[in-house]
Amino acid sequence: MASIFSKIINGEIPCYKIAEDEDYFSFLDINPIAEGHTLVIPKKEVDYVFDLPDETLHGLISFSKKIARGIDSALGTIRTGVIVEGLEVPHAHIHLIPIYFEGQPVSLGRKSEIQESRMKEIASLISKAVEL
Ligand code: 5GP
Repeated sequence: MASIFSKIINGEIPCYKIAEDEDYFSFLDINPIAEGHTLVIPKKEVDYVFDLPDETLHGLISFSKKIARGIDSALGTIRTGVIVEGLEVPHAHIHLIPIYFEGQPVSLGRKSEIQESRMKEIASLISKAVEL
């Protein structure tokens, strides 16, 4: 059965899309731990990130870098952090966490709810700032 993230790639489930190319896709996490919390995934569905072929893993990191640059530029972060956990959704993904101030708690356990209108606004801001 296709993962929830494959369904997002295929447009069967809506998302706040940031960017995509032939091999990778990025969108806002539905339960963000900070405004602009973004997920980056390979289109090829593999559960464990370290089971990805080297080429795909390298490409995932390079694509994530471009998205992180967009986040930094659009949202005025001090930097963007990275978390890889993968215990909830069996489709390899990188969490990009905008960090706005030193000491900001960065933990996947600290999720918040952000209004739909603000999620749309954030996605649009990041999307416009990303240079692929
Ligand atoms: P992990 O697998 O690394 O623990 O986390 C999976 C992440 O995917 C979670 O942060 C969760 O909020 C996010 N997530 C789960 N289902 C959906 C979904 O349908 N849409 C979006 N945008 N994010 C999701």
